[in-house]
Amino acid sequence: MQDLLPAAWQPLLTTCSLGREGVICQHTLTSTNTVLKELARRGEMSQGVCLCEMQTAGRGRLDRSWSSPEGRGVWMSVLLRPQLPPEKTPLVTFCAAIAMTKAIRRLTGVDARIKWPNDVVADGRKLCGVLLEAGFAPDGGMFVVAGTGLNVRSGAYPPELADRAVALEELCDAPSRNELIAAYLSELEEAVSAAEASYLEGIAQSYHELSCTLGHEVQVLSPAETFTGVAESVDGDGALLVRTGAGEIRRVLAGDVSVRGLMGYV
Ligand code: ADP
Repeated sequence: MQDLLPAAWQPLLTTCSLGREGVICQHTLTSTNTVLKELARRGEMSQGVCLCEMQTAGRGRLDRSWSSPEGRGVWMSVLLRPQLPPEKTPLVTFCAAIAMTKAIRRLTGVDARIKWPNDVVADGRKLCGVLLEAGFAPDGGMFVVAGTGLNVRSGAYPPELADRAVALEELCDAPSRNELIAAYLSELEEAVSAAEASYLEGIAQSYHELSCTLGHEVQVLSPAETFTGVAESVDGDGALLVRTGAGEIRRVLAGDVSVRGLMGYV
């Protein structure tokens, strides 16, 4: 059964171009990010949207797996050629997180928030993960693929993740996945345009309003060490600035760290 049809969500779009062409919508794919990355690397697509009912090899950061069972979520990626210098591409992660958070809040009223760098959380648990990957097209231009895995129906995540994962249906009368897709793509186009126009400044207000990390005490976990501090702000390249107990400011890049709250996941 497949009810994620472009014909159902395209009429709801308010975008200029995103989602209007270059759409791949299939029942089963390995990973929507992988499909778009391969097309972009071969120069066969420069902007597009890829979604499916289920992924057989959904991925999170650092080669972690992302559970994406049939019909339970919005497993979707967007391919973009943003007009941004390479060091600013992490800002597209913020754009995707802002767009998803705004779409969820607008359609459901759920108090969704952004956990730095790449998760949308609600009720202290992960509702949506964002995976940003970048590469170069044959013409030398840089592309980015922003993947989002949004848990919509129960069963989207395995029971062992119940303490840190949640699905929209557990929090509200979930809207249709088609409505969520259209709202997300519309918000994403707007956020990316704002970032292209003035980098972090273009999206800082939305990011600050929606963040659940800034102003809170966090634990930073990396393969090398763990430390705690207060997440004070993000800098222009998307790094998190954490003030340690000794008063030192540490700059944390998303690369290989995880951030947790002191009492739990958020
Ligand atoms: P982190 O939470 O450390 O930022 P990632 O963003 O890389 O991790 O996401 C991968 C992790 O998310 C997996 O290791 C798993 O714990 C969890 N996960 C996998 N599938 C889901 C899902 N559908 N919903 C919520 N969490 C998931």
